Amino acid sequence: MSDKVRIRRDIASMSAYTPTASLEVFAERLGLPVEELIKLDANENPFGPSPRVMEALARLPNMHIYPDPESGRLRDLLSDYTGVSAAQILCGAGADELIELILQLFIEPGDAIINTPPTFAMYGFNTPLYHGEVIDVYRRADFSLDLAAIEEAVRQREAKLVFLCSPNNPSGDLIPPAEIERLLELPATIIVDEAYIEFAEAESLAARVAAHPNLIVLRTMSKWAGLAGLRIGYGIFPSALMPQLWKIKQPYNVNVAADIAARASLKDVDFLLGHVRQLVKQRERLEVAFAELPYLSPYPSRANFVLNRVGGMSAADFRDRLARLGIIVRYYNKPRLDDHIRISAGRPEQIDRLLEALREFALD
Ligand SMILES: *Cc1c(COP(=O)(O)O)cnc(C)c1O
Repeated sequence: MSDKVRIRRDIASMSAYTPTASLEVFAERLGLPVEELIKLDANENPFGPSPRVMEALARLPNMHIYPDPESGRLRDLLSDYTGVSAAQILCGAGADELIELILQLFIEPGDAIINTPPTFAMYGFNTPLYHGEVIDVYRRADFSLDLAAIEEAVRQREAKLVFLCSPNNPSGDLIPPAEIERLLELPATIIVDEAYIEFAEAESLAARVAAHPNLIVLRTMSKWAGLAGLRIGYGIFPSALMPQLWKIKQPYNVNVAADIAARASLKDVDFLLGHVRQLVKQRERLEVAFAELPYLSPYPSRANFVLNRVGGMSAADFRDRLARLGIIVRYYNKPRLDDHIRISAGRPEQIDRLLEALREFALD
């Protein structure tokens, strides 16, 4: 780079994060038509959005006008959906944006956050951008939290934030609410990322935010409502944080298409929860089928995906063999997830094709 152009040295030396690619990009990479791909690598909703979203977007007015910076009508509908006051809800361009917004609000250079890997990568990935330090407190072998180690780390490092994911991505387990209640006693703000709560058949912690000044709950329309491509998520925040968040939020972070799509979805909740139930059924089917295969060991899941340890063949080979058939799964190659594969629940006929392929692998 020219010496006239002086970007941050820490970013210049940082390694890149590889997110999932689009269907078109995978199709090109694999030399297969888009229609033949079965994308099970990013926990997206294979049923897509509600038909009401398609109708609303086809008639989308006012694309030339900036969106409502407060997302007022959407927040009212989210209030009905979650049972939490709209005054405590803030929308973002995906829950991902809200993770960054929280870091912006809390982290001064050198401040620590607690991360509990294996977990969603964004908490640890975004923190250094705000000059914060990530303290990794690894989950146990069964992926449960090591509460005593988290408490010790918060106290010792005066960590300001604890990021928890429940159900956890990629392991799929739900954190028992009593454990979160215990961590709320700590002198830190606890962020519970509930991106998959609709699949868990468990109660959201959203209602508990009112009782705890240090609890934040993150939710998203990406997974259960099938809006991942439109980028719309929200957070439920303690009242005292709201005026501070409004100061720093980008005014037009939620675009008009995302806003209208989310509102149309919230008027079709029963229909969308029907898809959620079907995906839970397919996930259960995957758990049973994987356990019967000699080379997969699935972990129990409360989300729309199943994590597996691969044995007897390399997980990378396993991924590549499926990819050649147009079936895309998520492969991990990092501490505690060596030789692990995460597979999302799909439509029944997609899962038929996956299981057929896997039975053939078993015969080789
Ligand atoms: C998918 C996912 C998100 C991202 O949500 P967006 O609203 O699409 O940004 C956040 N947290 C976890 C744990 C996820 O798996």
